[in-house]
Amino acid sequence: ANNSEGNLRSPICCIMGHVDTGKTKLLDCIRHTNVQEGEAGGITQQIGATYFPAENIRERTRELKADAKLNVPGLLVIDTPGHESFTNLRSRGSGLCDIAILVVDIMHGLEPQTIESLNLLRMRNTEFIVALNKVDRLYGWKTLRNAPIVKALKQQSKDVQNEFNMRVTSVITQFKEQGLNTELYYKNKDMGETFNIVPTSAISGEGVPDLLLLLVQWSQKTMIEKLTFKNELECTVLEVKVVEGHGTTIDVVLVNGVLHEGDQIVVCGMQGPIVTTIRALLTPHPMKELRVKGTYLHHKQIKAAQGIKISAQGLEHAIAGTGLYVVGPDDDLEEIKRSAMEDMESVLNRIEKTGEGVCVQASTLGSLEALLEFLKSPAVNIPVSGISIGPVHKKDVMRASVMLEKKKEYATILAFDVKVTTEVEEFAEDTGVKIFKADIIYHLFDQFKAYIDGIKE
Ligand code: GDP
Ligand code: MG
Repeated sequence: ANNSEGNLRSPICCIMGHVDTGKTKLLDCIRHTNVQEGEAGGITQQIGATYFPAENIRERTRELKADAKLNVPGLLVIDTPGHESFTNLRSRGSGLCDIAILVVDIMHGLEPQTIESLNLLRMRNTEFIVALNKVDRLYGWKTLRNAPIVKALKQQSKDVQNEFNMRVTSVITQFKEQGLNTELYYKNKDMGETFNIVPTSAISGEGVPDLLLLLVQWSQKTMIEKLTFKNELECTVLEVKVVEGHGTTIDVVLVNGVLHEGDQIVVCGMQGPIVTTIRALLTPHPMKELRVKGTYLHHKQIKAAQGIKISAQGLEHAIAGTGLYVVGPDDDLEEIKRSAMEDMESVLNRIEKTGEGVCVQASTLGSLEALLEFLKSPAVNIPVSGISIGPVHKKDVMRASVMLEKKKEYATILAFDVKVTTEVEEFAEDTGVKIFKADIIYHLFDQFKAYIDGIKE
């Protein structure tokens, strides 16, 4: 018991790990939704946020521990992207987070991105829990839908139990090789020094109650200070999106502070800082993801931590992945505008100074950064001369066409997860500019490489 119990915010949790380990599916399982199947190539390309109220966690963990103490209002879970070149977007996601779920496929053990995620988490000193997922893939697994893991394991044959133990031991050894002590959470005598492993199935739900309860209990036990609600605003833009009936909106994660309808806010924009007023504060219904279409709940004010959709004027050029600021009565607007633009400047610095290179266009600052990072990697090495965020317009084609005289193959736009209208496409064709579109970064590279090879022949 402690005095600040009544004033804790929800812990923010991110899901990390190698591609295909079941990060999105795990969220789907907790939420009873199916986002995973609707994704491009099954890869989460942008961060989404979901709020789980304590009542729902109570419901899901009743069988495991009916009298568990839940001191936090809920849990805010952020699903981070899975592709190899998404380090940057992932690091943004993990930067917001109090605690992480590191998902490992029990059949595969530690994979390259598991280690990459692990290093990010260690670098930031973020607490995490290992979800050893896909236990239902053990040969002969008997399904016990949504059961606590110890109960589910007891129902299994000796063979399944043996295979389980063997694979767990192997994963623990692999973590040890990374300098990390891990143990099944229900056997862990030294929590704090030894990281917890929770076996799960995102398909049939075994172990999911254990994961939820451990997340909440571990957070509220070890992070009271961090989770104590603070008035000072801390808020990050996750996505910029057009929503029917609301125009261009931004999805944000409010980590601390309170946002009100009518607040004057400043966000980073492609053409400079955007100063605007909150017209509506919207949330999806609890347990629904921020990205999923549907009706929204309107709020006069919202207290952290929460994932929020903000509708306001002039957000068309807002940049995802940057901070949101509120202008208070005593604040210096110019100073806030400068702070808001800092993130963007670090990205602009990555453009080729020679002026020779392809143009790159992406949906968010995070995905643009990820794409730039990928193009820069030694194996790829494609120079970039221009960047833009949002749909491809004629002016973007005009800009790319400048390369026609310098280096023809660079008169190209690599468009990642953005719209290109037929009109713009026709215009590009007339001008001689190539546009490559894809929802997955490495597909863009494949297309461009095939094109370059074609020219060389
Ligand atoms: P992500 O890339 O980490 O987000 O992985 P996804 O959630 O997209 O899952 C990748 C694939 O593994 C999909 O085909 C899922 O249906 C499957 N999958 C995820 N979790 C489980 C699980 O617990 N058991 C089984 N059998 N399959 C799973
Ligand atoms: Mg995913």
